Amino acid sequence: MSTIHVLSDALVNKIAAGEVIERPASVVKELLENSLDAGASWLRIDVEDGGRKLIRVTDDGVGMSSSDLAMCVQSHATSKITSEDDLFAISTMGFRGEALPSIASVAQMRVVSRPKDQDAGHEITVTGGRSEPARAAAAPPGTCVEVRNLFFNVPARRKFIRGANTEYGHIVDQLAKVALAHPAVGFELTHNRRTMYHLEPTESLTGRIGNFYGRELADSLLSVSSQRSELSVSGFVAPPVLARSAAKWQFSFLNGRFVRDRFVQHAVKEAFRGLVDPAKYPVAFLYLRLDPRGYDVNVHPTKIEVRWQDSNLVHSAVLAALRDVLLRSDLTPALETTVAEDDPSRVRSQQVREAIADFFKRSEPAQRRMEFTPPTSKPARPAPPRPEPSLSRSASLPPTDVSVTAPLRETRSAAPPEAPRAIQIHNTYLVAETPEGVVIIDQHALHERIMYQQLSERIMEGNLETQRLLLPEPVAVTPRQKALLTEHTDLLKRLGVEVSSFGPGTAAVQAFPSLLNHADAPEFVRALLDKLSEKGHTAHPENLLQEMVEMMACKAAVKAGDPLTGGEIEDLIAQRDLVEKSSSCPHGRPTALKLTLRDLEKQFKRV
Ligand code: ADP
Ligand code: MG
Repeated sequence: MSTIHVLSDALVNKIAAGEVIERPASVVKELLENSLDAGASWLRIDVEDGGRKLIRVTDDGVGMSSSDLAMCVQSHATSKITSEDDLFAISTMGFRGEALPSIASVAQMRVVSRPKDQDAGHEITVTGGRSEPARAAAAPPGTCVEVRNLFFNVPARRKFIRGANTEYGHIVDQLAKVALAHPAVGFELTHNRRTMYHLEPTESLTGRIGNFYGRELADSLLSVSSQRSELSVSGFVAPPVLARSAAKWQFSFLNGRFVRDRFVQHAVKEAFRGLVDPAKYPVAFLYLRLDPRGYDVNVHPTKIEVRWQDSNLVHSAVLAALRDVLLRSDLTPALETTVAEDDPSRVRSQQVREAIADFFKRSEPAQRRMEFTPPTSKPARPAPPRPEPSLSRSASLPPTDVSVTAPLRETRSAAPPEAPRAIQIHNTYLVAETPEGVVIIDQHALHERIMYQQLSERIMEGNLETQRLLLPEPVAVTPRQKALLTEHTDLLKRLGVEVSSFGPGTAAVQAFPSLLNHADAPEFVRALLDKLSEKGHTAHPENLLQEMVEMMACKAAVKAGDPLTGGEIEDLIAQRDLVEKSSSCPHGRPTALKLTLRDLEKQFKRV
């Protein structure tokens, strides 16, 4: 082993960069935070090639003098704290004096700045940690930081940067977190010189939420507001029916900083307990305000986590605030029926459907025109599978559609005729007699397993049947989600899902696997997008496919609470022997419980 020595500044900065700068979006985060700390009221972000080539943040904040410019790229140089006391009352976004030198050590950086009260500006350039002296430069008041070729000198890190679409998506997520915390600040984002977001300063948080996640969601939000001792909790939650499959739909902000916090997350889960599927995440935008002395931000390099002085207060205040709003609101999901003339939002969504139908009518080959029919009203809940194909959901569609197969029906002819007699109890369990005793089957779990096997087999063989939707179903998508759809077209194709772009905030589901004819196409696509954005760039393609199939199986299966007819019960039981591993559903829960005659005799003390 060699002797101990002190690391050079250059190396220290590179190590810090390893913690703080993971990808282009991390640079955007640090630069935006610096601009906010500088009191900016308008921020402009230009990125090229998903930020891989260029990230530039321009602000109208206080600016820096030439000596500050020279200082700002030195490690541990900050204007935000001076003493240890300050460390326990941080009210700025930054304070570690780490971001600029870290970025400068792994990229080519240029900072141009002019203090508001001076009429000349200066610039400094740093390449891979080597800086040139500051020199005079023409500049408007404020600061502009330009970062090119991130990780140009760290090939090991560069390897982890993904495609431009993925990186751009992360940048938008990052911008959303900052813009939702600072509605009074204006933001503009361009990508490859095209304006993607132009957000005027506003007082309306729901307006901002709508900018990023669509009007539909924004309009449905319920507002939260409460004050408990020193802590105020405000913001919005979406009604339980809009819960998503990914945690990223829960936003919490503490004094203007986006934070991830397990106490807040737990309180949200608790408040919605019994109202949403435990595997789902309610959508929430929560704003916490608390004296900075009540928590420590200096526990995580990117300050995304904090340590509370009183975590109980946080948990109970959030829980109480949410319970209060949930109790006050009417959460019964609205029945989707025919258009009522006096309901503007329903009329609007009807208009969107018609516009989409119209668009595809014009752009599709002539022979497909036949397939477009006026929208039909759908049942509020997908109908359970029927024993006769003519009664399945396709019944509402013209008879030309022959590709629809009723999942339960399909292998019926192959099923052994001696399927045991069974009854359904509580619309949830099937109880059947077996030679050894009785078996109690969870109808959803079993059907899910059957669907899972059928879907996987067909996907493997490449012959999954798909069904063209008579009327393409609109799904509201963010630019980020749109990019995901493009990026994963092949995967979607294997899954039998075809989604095409339709206008800026909308995509249209065009085709869908026939086996899923009971599932709600837009809801399924939303769940799929959540999975993709959560796992899309980390999971191995095969694992991702596997996860998707599991999700499809779950959505395609009958639910607990669905009444089944005698024929459907028979079909389910008959197929039980045909699937492998039928004793547990894809999530690993058991599908059936057995009671032998011996068990019964013991229980009744006959032996
Ligand atoms: P920190 O934000 O933790 O202080 P940084 O490395 O991010 O550390 O920034 C170093 C210093 O550079 C800041 O403390 C601030 O004084 C100055 N600075 C950085 N960005 C800006 C900006 N956009 N406008 C004005 N000053 C800035
Ligand atoms: Mg900073």
